[in-house]
Amino acid sequence: MADLELDDVTKVFREDDGNEITAVDEVSLRIDDGEFLVLVGPSGCGKSTTLRMVAGLETVSDGAIRLGGSVINETQPKDRDIAMVFQSYALYPHMTVRENMSFGLEESTAMPDDEIAATVDETAAMLGIDDLLDRKPDELSGGQQQRVALGRAIVRDPEVFLLDEPLSNLDAKLRAQMRTELQRLQEDLGVSTIYVTHDQTEAMTMADKIAILNDGELQQVGTPLECYHEPANLFVAGFIGEPSMNFFDVTREGDRLVHEDFEYALSAETVDELDGNEELVLGIRPEDVAVRSSHEDRHSYEALVDVVEPMGNENNVYLTFAPDGGEPFVATIDGLQHVEDGQTVVARLPEEAIHVFDRTTGRALR
Ligand code: ATP
Repeated sequence: MADLELDDVTKVFREDDGNEITAVDEVSLRIDDGEFLVLVGPSGCGKSTTLRMVAGLETVSDGAIRLGGSVINETQPKDRDIAMVFQSYALYPHMTVRENMSFGLEESTAMPDDEIAATVDETAAMLGIDDLLDRKPDELSGGQQQRVALGRAIVRDPEVFLLDEPLSNLDAKLRAQMRTELQRLQEDLGVSTIYVTHDQTEAMTMADKIAILNDGELQQVGTPLECYHEPANLFVAGFIGEPSMNFFDVTREGDRLVHEDFEYALSAETVDELDGNEELVLGIRPEDVAVRSSHEDRHSYEALVDVVEPMGNENNVYLTFAPDGGEPFVATIDGLQHVEDGQTVVARLPEEAIHVFDRTTGRALR
């Protein structure tokens, strides 16, 4: 069993001047055997620190890390049965690809040389780098170096893979290709994996489960679709999705949400969900905003098209509430629908698609 569990894990850094930085704040997480968990969040939110504690490269200030049920807080990194792949690849420049891939096995196992060679050959073939085994890292492309770094982790046959932004040094096309490849590889190997990224597209496309961190605190853990459709709070709602969810500060007056540019009438069921809260944020995803030529119902509002950004099969339409240029928002519409800059349209914000958050706590109410 290779379930990995973080139980109220905290990391406090003490700086020379006595200042304390809580980089990771009581994070509890569970990665089931064979699961692919993506840890995502903005720069500085504590992703790498979390990963480094799991790898044993950083001490744990408080809480417990368990692998297969046993606490590993004090276990030496080399004895953890965990392999980490770094953003920088961290290949030894003076060693060949074969030596880079063999090194860990020679150091930490009693595996005979011929078996090590066979393992390296097999892994290199799986990664399509078997013809590069005699080269040095500086004779490889970025993508090839990435494969070698992965290969070095795979040959160790660990219980857990930790991947820290492993694709960030690759160009967009190769990154997309490696995303699919990595996913397939992880599935075939069935190794529990934590993958760190600040790229929410990577998180959405690769993860079985996403864990979203902000300021050292866990915001939500769920499948990509759960986090997308049912964000737990304003932070998650704004972080997941591109373009971001539209937000409007509103005040509830009875069964209406009042914004300075519009009023939004609510059904009795929605009002019930708001638990009497009044200072709220109304959220709607760009693809849920419909752009029409005429009013359809009470959730339709006149809007002015500022800019149309063609994306191919879709257009992002940047709008303001007409006529005097109110709060900007964005609609993602079908690429075939014709809309022009400067045009006055009707934006429809359907009630079934709206999210409502408590403005003070950020918590999702609906
Ligand atoms: P990025 O995406 O930019 O790599 P991250 O989410 O991985 O960021 P961490 O590197 O884990 O974030 O850093 C979390 C916080 O802890 C940051 O505020 C960072 O400045 C701080 N921090 C990290 N390492 C140390 C350290 N050795 N000493 C003091 N503070 C640190």
